[in-house]
Formats: sequence, structure tokens, C-alpha cells
Amino acid sequence: MSPFPRADYRGLSLYAPDRRPVGVDLSDNTNLWGTHPAALARIQAATSDDLARYPDLYADRLRAAVSQRFNVQADCVTTGAGSDDVLDSAFRAAYGTGATVRYASPTFSMVEPLARMNGIAAKAVLWSAAALDPQLLLEEDPDLVYVCRPNNPTGELLPVEWVERLLRHRGDEGPLIILDEAYANFAEETMISWAVQNPRLLVARTASKAFGLAGLRCGFGVAQPETTLAIEKSRGPYKVSRLAADAAAAALLDEDGWMANTVAECLVNRARLSDELSTRGLRPLESRANFVLFAAPSGSASDDALALRERGIAVRPFTGIEAIGEGLRVTVGPWPLMEHFLDALDETPWADADEEANASDSPPGRAS
Ligand code: PMP
Repeated sequence: MSPFPRADYRGLSLYAPDRRPVGVDLSDNTNLWGTHPAALARIQAATSDDLARYPDLYADRLRAAVSQRFNVQADCVTTGAGSDDVLDSAFRAAYGTGATVRYASPTFSMVEPLARMNGIAAKAVLWSAAALDPQLLLEEDPDLVYVCRPNNPTGELLPVEWVERLLRHRGDEGPLIILDEAYANFAEETMISWAVQNPRLLVARTASKAFGLAGLRCGFGVAQPETTLAIEKSRGPYKVSRLAADAAAAALLDEDGWMANTVAECLVNRARLSDELSTRGLRPLESRANFVLFAAPSGSASDDALALRERGIAVRPFTGIEAIGEGLRVTVGPWPLMEHFLDALDETPWADADEEANASDSPPGRAS
């Protein structure tokens, strides 16, 4: 057998969620108000040099923007083509015989494949158990611990004190804690200031969500310089294009404008959508992100996602969610889109079943 690819790659499958075009895509938690105008203006002003010449080796202008926005030194910042790239590079820098990442599950679905791609064993701890006792994530001395805050797909925001307990245990000797803050703008909380103080903390952020720049592929991480240097080495040079870096920098430095306004509207709509779902008995989980996870109405997330897709709406199905069993994750956007979604939800087969069964038993996914 050919030595390529290496043996532990053969069992890995390609990350391929259902991305077929659909009328209203509420499946990927991007900013449904569009993109940041300052970023778009920079792209529209592109010059020949932007494309013909190499970008900064290590995205220095983007690092400078992150440094200014978050009041951290530039050498505490690393960047990547999306925060996936920052996570990937951090994992690669941790690779070694028997290297392990521990994480509370359910969480961001790329963690397990990213670990395996990099030859790292991924060990899941049940979310509810880890939420009660963060030390469960430190059992068997992992090299890395991944925590998503707020968590994808549940939207839960673990308390700062919880992270503090994780960091305190084992002092400077413990694993690197990767805090994924992809959705932190919607929780209006960040632990970036902790990352520059603590040698064991890396905060990963993305321009893909609140800033409306998923198509640019731009992310960054904040940690102490020793950690950012390790990640830069592992990721390599020229990974963030000149236009992406400049456009993301323009968006980041426009702190109180477009992004803040769309986040504010998103938070209002998140509460309103959660109320609508509760009214339908669908038990939405309390979310601090720009999405809401709720009980699959029929009890089968894949059936319900399909029924919604047939009505022009994409949502993301999940199974094995502790509080609700099978669930659907829906991105929060402008209210007219939410109305389309709710109308489609009310047209799905289970909605009729519910009317018929009004006085008797509820369908399996619903609260009684
Ligand atoms: N972290 C989390 C929790 C996410 O949900 C996502 C995107 N779905 C990412 C990281 C990666 O984002 P990107 O690579 O677009 O920056």
C-alpha cells in the first residue's frame, strides 16, 4: 500500500455539511445583515499590487489592527485564513507522540477532525459534567484543552470563574487552553485580556461571524508571545491575503459602527425568536450567540431539516444534545428572515400532527 496518505488519515472523512443552495440559509451562523461596509470599501478599492504582490509575511497590518482594537501588544497576536486555521496551526504545534486534546461535548464539530488531521487524539467529556467540574478536562494530562465560549451549537456561555478554575489548576505546567471566541461579540464578553496575562491561554477569534466576513477567511488569536510564535511557525507565511488582512483590519477598527448595530439587532431578534420557539413548545436553549438550538419538532433532526429545506430554509441538525435530544440550530438574522423560517416551521408535517394531537400526546421532540 502507498505510504500516502499516512495510515491515520484513511479513516478521516471530508468535512461536508449540506451546503446546497437554498432560499434562506440559516445554517452557518454568518452575519445575515451582510458584510462590513468598511471591509467592502477596501476590497472595492483594490489595486493591481494587491493581487500581483505577496502580502505581509505574517499579516503585520492585521496584527496591528487587532493590537489597537483590543489593546494588546502586536506580538501577542497571531492570524490565519479563518480561525479554523489558527486552531489547526495550534494543534499542529502541539503534535507529538500521544498528544491529546480534551473538550466538552457537544461543541464545534471541527475540533475532532482538526485534531485527527494533526495526529492528535481527541477526547470528549460530557458537557454537563465538565460544566460542573472543569478539572474533568484536565484528566490524563492532555496537551490541549478546547473550550468554545459561547459554545457552538448550544449557545451556552460558561462563566469566567469556570475558565479561571481551569487555568488555576496545575499553574504554568498545565495544558494550553484554547478558548474559541468565534461568537463572543454576541455575548458581549471576551477573555482576551486574560490571554496576555496567562501563558496557558490562547483566545481564538474570527472575522467570519459578527463582522460579516466569512468569505474573506480571516481569523486571529491572542496569547503570550511564546505561544503566538509557535502558531506562526506552524501556520507558515503568506496565509492571509493582502486584501483579506486590510479589509478585516478596516472592519476591526470601525468598532462602534456597523458591527455593533447589527449585533444589537441580532440580540433583540434572538430573544424574540426564542419566545416564538417556546410558544411552540420547542424548548430553545438559552443562547449567548447568534443562533438558537431547539428541540427537533418531530424528534428527528434530519427529517425536520429536510422538511424545512423543502420549504426553502436551511438549518443545521444535531443529535445527542443532552437537554433536548435531537435539535435544530438556526442562525438569528433580520426579522423578515426569521418570519420566513417560522412560517416554514409552521407548515412542516409535524405542525399538522401537533394540531391533531392538541388534546392528546405531544410529538416526541416537544415539551409536554
Ligand atoms: N469556531 C467556531 C465555534 C465556529 O463555529 C466556526 C465556524 N463555524 C469557527 C471557529 C471557524 O470560523 P472561521 O474559520 O470561518 O473563522
